Amino acid sequence: MVRRRQPTYRPQNMCWSCWYTWYPRGKDFSLRCPNCGSSSVGIDLTWIIMIGGLVGIYFAASYWYIVIPAIIFLFIVSKIVK
Ligand SMILES: [Zn+2]
Repeated sequence: MVRRRQPTYRPQNMCWSCWYTWYPRGKDFSLRCPNCGSSSVGIDLTWIIMIGGLVGIYFAASYWYIVIPAIIFLFIVSKIVK
């Protein structure tokens, strides 16, 4: 059996303009999106958004006062993590 080892803790870059994801080459993050050229790139937080979306749907009905600050928090984090 061949086990493919995924590189762990390898940050994937993501473009916040076109949602393009790629693995950066070299030691630093790419500062520009190779797809659209936008400079608003960060690490891939798609899984956080997906989990946040599921949790948000689950809690939105009765816990909107938690969900809305969490969305704002994630938005701020997405701007800081570049
Ligand atoms: Zn892009």
